[in-house]
Amino acid sequence: MKIGFPRALYYFDYFPFWAGFFHRLEIEVVTSPPTHRLIMEQGLKKASDETCLPLKLLAGHIQALKDVDGIFLPRMVSVEADTYSCPKFLGIPESLLPAVPPGIPVLSVVLNWRKGQRQVLKDLQVFGLQLGKSKAEIRKAFTEGQEWQRRYQASNGAGWDFEESMREIERATKGLTNPVSNVKTWKERVLAKNPLTVQKCSDPPRTVIDQDTDRLKISLVGHSYLTLESYVNLNILRKLREKADVELTEHVNQADVSAHLAGLRKKLFWSHAKQIYGSGNKFVTDPQVDGVIYLTCFGCGTDSMVQEMLALIARQHHKPYMVVTLDEHSGEAGLVTRLEAFLDMVERRKAHEGDISTYGECLDRDSNTL
Ligand code: SF4
Repeated sequence: MKIGFPRALYYFDYFPFWAGFFHRLEIEVVTSPPTHRLIMEQGLKKASDETCLPLKLLAGHIQALKDVDGIFLPRMVSVEADTYSCPKFLGIPESLLPAVPPGIPVLSVVLNWRKGQRQVLKDLQVFGLQLGKSKAEIRKAFTEGQEWQRRYQASNGAGWDFEESMREIERATKGLTNPVSNVKTWKERVLAKNPLTVQKCSDPPRTVIDQDTDRLKISLVGHSYLTLESYVNLNILRKLREKADVELTEHVNQADVSAHLAGLRKKLFWSHAKQIYGSGNKFVTDPQVDGVIYLTCFGCGTDSMVQEMLALIARQHHKPYMVVTLDEHSGEAGLVTRLEAFLDMVERRKAHEGDISTYGECLDRDSNTL
């Protein structure tokens, strides 16, 4: 059996869990190709105009899945206790059914961690019946999925390259039918046994922020499916890395996120918003970080609030802060100009110890821009 998994939205956070889960069940997972122009155009045709850019992209990736026995679209209600996913996650798969190619069934399961691990396992076991798998097999697959996810998150914290991690996980899920003797390289042999051990054995992790250099230190804050989706974000990460050391929301561990949520008068409901606010707060208040860029997209409800909250803290700490809003019409020239202007400003400010006025005094303390 081959299951299609669109390379969009929850792919960027939870694919390792599902890859491990299906790997254990000996079900091959086929992902859609990296985003390109046609995928984007097809997504725009099938998704609602009012929805956000990542949902439109997901619609495009669903259509790009060919030759599969089913398309997997889980309804991820909640991924941890006390929070919910964004309401648009909850509308999946129904909101995206128009994008599903005719004749291909949709496979879905509800995942609600608010109800506890036992309920999640029960729901997966009901789903397992559709796949012809026993309860015991699903239990083992669930444990395997959690292990893959845990290792992936640990590697994230150490600054491993996202693309490389995903490539290796995908390769592992496709190698189900390959006998080990056919696998050529050492790396692949390791993968055949345990797909994620290779991350610990290969090159050293990429340094996220090197405190010994004079390079600028910039933090890029936002949803993983925007910061890591290089087609849609016009390669902002690569452009930034050419001129600065970059830290991402995903590099901040849960303990730090929780510590930086502590001052809120009211809890945030959405898991992504919590991660973004907690990491953004950490970056804004960290003297090692020279500037913060918030990457958002047109039509994102949760960002409209979180982005303003972070802007307020940035203003209080006089931290350079810029919001970049993406949509399907974003142009590369405009982005490059804004990035260069921001980095020039941050560099000048760093060189002049925070005073941007020629009179040696910051005249614009209450502005949102600095
Ligand atoms: S959090 Fe924002 S970008 Fe993500 S699915 Fe919800 S509305 Fe869309």
